[in-house]
Order: sequence, then structure tokens, then C-alpha cells
Amino acid sequence: MNDKNTVIVIGLGRFGQSVCRRLAALKQEVIGVDNDMHRVEEVADIIDLAAQIDATDEEALIKIGAKEANVAIVAIGENIEASILATSILRGLDVKHIIARAQNSLHARVLAQVGAHRVIFPERDMGMRLADTIVFPWLSEFATLPGSSYLIGSIDVTDEMIGKTLAELNFRNKYNLTILMLERKGTKFIPGPDTVLQQGDILTVIGEREDIDKLQNL
Ligand code: ATP
Repeated sequence: MNDKNTVIVIGLGRFGQSVCRRLAALKQEVIGVDNDMHRVEEVADIIDLAAQIDATDEEALIKIGAKEANVAIVAIGENIEASILATSILRGLDVKHIIARAQNSLHARVLAQVGAHRVIFPERDMGMRLADTIVFPWLSEFATLPGSSYLIGSIDVTDEMIGKTLAELNFRNKYNLTILMLERKGTKFIPGPDTVLQQGDILTVIGEREDIDKLQNL
């Protein structure tokens, strides 16, 4: 993403602050709010605008620039009522992309009902991801195709592939993966059935986790 986003982060606990720091490092415009002044002070020097407001106060949110934000992150944790009200207000202000943090599945459902475009469970998701990376160490290098179980990422050619064309290997059927791109000595191109694989080639592939894992363990 090249354009600069204006992101409002509601709730500056560990999670909200971490989001703020990272966004600021990525040179995004960041507004952070919390009703606890200490939390506000902790990020005041890092982000563009930090303010002590109650996130359930619509006027205060408008004053701080919530309407100008194209992304809102509702990072409030324990206070479920405040997180739902803030999400609803932001949706009413027509913020284009609202990401809200849920504590449990009912909370998640209500957040979606009041207008969150995306609901996240940071602790649960991090725990799952950590467990996954222990079983599949290569996983952190791969991206998930949103809304699917497909993963996209790069693999090195294996010895059995070297010197053979993709057609000879019957690549797609043999490995159940589709090659999107080949990188050879810094040059990237889309290979055809007659492309002969060479030592050092890197393949960008799309496929299911189990199929990628089989190849990683060859
Ligand atoms: P984290 O789980 O991110 O470490 P935490 O456990 O300190 O944070 P949470 O209950 O998760 O605290 O809330 C995150 C932040 O949201 C807190 O700093 C809290 O002050 C803030 N917050 C809660 N309710 C409101 C509200 N109505 N308006 C603004 N900020 C709020």
C-alpha cells in the first residue's frame, strides 16, 4: 500500500500502542485516543495526535478527526460496552474500514452487527499462529489468500526438480500446487510448461498448507 492512511486507534493498551508504534514507523498518519491520560502520554511523542477522550462520546470523536480517518481500529479490550458503542459511532461517521477487537464470539457477532468490517481476536490469533509456526516453521514466510485456505509464498526447487520441465514433472498434479512466478538470478518471470528448472530457482506457488508442507519436507 503506497498511499498514506489516516488511522484512528481507539484504546491505547499494549495492543493499541503496539499498533500505533508500528503504523507510525510505517509513516502513516495516526490518531490515538484513550480515556486514561497516562496511556495517551505514553504515545504522544510517537504519533501525530494523541488525546484523552471517552470513545463513546461521538462529538469528541468528531473533534479529534474520526471522520477524516479512512481506517479505525477499536483496540479496547475489557470494556465490551465501550468497544461496541465506539464501533457503532465510527460506522455512523462513515469510516470506510473499521477493525474491532473482540473478547469472545458473542462480542464479535455484535461488533459485526453494529458495523465492524473486520473483527479480530489478537490473543487467540497470536496463540494459534505461534502453535502453527512450531508445526509449520515455513508458515511465517507465506501469506494467506483472504477468505480462503490457500497460501502464497516462495519455495526453493528441490533436487528432483532440477533439469526437468514443468510438463515433465507434471508439477501441478504431482505437488498439487500452481506456480505463479519463477525467480532466476534476480529475474522474475512466469514459467511455461517447457521451462526447465535450474539449481537456485525460486518458485512462487499457491496451494493448500498440507501440500506446501510436503514439499518443504522433501
Ligand atoms: P491491552 O489488552 O491492549 O494490553 P489493557 O489490558 O491495559 O490493554 P483494555 O481493557 O484491553 O486494557 O483496554 C485497552 C485500552 O482501552 C485501555 O487503555 C483503556 O483505558 C481504553 N479504554 C477503555 N474504555 C475506553 C473508553 N470508553 N474510551 C477510551 N478508551 C477506553
